[in-house]
Amino acid sequence: MNLLPRRYHRIKEVLEKRQPDLTVLTEDVHKPHNLSAIIRTCDAVGILDVHSINTTDEFPTFSQVSQGSDKWIFLHTHPNIQTAINHLKSKKFKIYAAHLTDKSVDYRDIDYTQPTALLLGAEKWGVSEEAASLVDGHIIIPMLGMVQSLNVSVAAAVILFEAQRQRLQKKMYDTSRLDIKRYHQILFEWSYP
Ligand code: SAM
Repeated sequence: MNLLPRRYHRIKEVLEKRQPDLTVLTEDVHKPHNLSAIIRTCDAVGILDVHSINTTDEFPTFSQVSQGSDKWIFLHTHPNIQTAINHLKSKKFKIYAAHLTDKSVDYRDIDYTQPTALLLGAEKWGVSEEAASLVDGHIIIPMLGMVQSLNVSVAAAVILFEAQRQRLQKKMYDTSRLDIKRYHQILFEWSYP
């Protein structure tokens, strides 16, 4: 099967900007449009792997909001938050919960050029106490209005584009950062779906 050269080069270009050491973990984010919007932002920022747990519902399907971005992201589901966090810690990620507590620091004070996982909480309940106790830190987007929190996908975008800004500054998008074996495997999968 012949692949149009332009599409092949586009896939290569995107893959070469993917950041294997930047990821998101969603905890019971159950509305399809929110999960889809988060995935779409991950694609834009260069995230390849997203982790999710969903203990309250069936796993949400992607809505049109994803604009097909779910095809270019690997979504890994875990049975519970402890397993998900242990998995990320074993891969040397620092995990920051976007979570409003008295321990929270401004999200701009974090170094996102280190291996980083961003934990996002459920639409209604936020990050669970268990998850909050297992992570490396809590971060907050300062809110100056009457409402206490942002929509979860908006919060994800604000924080992830700060991570992108820091990584652009450090030229982390300039050369491919994926393990060579994984790079070729994904290039093949995406080129010949
Ligand atoms: N009532 C919930 C609470 O107290 O956490 C609000 C949940 S909020 C709608 C859903 C998720 O979005 C939160 O768990 C958090 O991960 C993220 N979020 C929303 N606004 C945020 C902010 N200003 N700073 C950090 N994270 C935020």
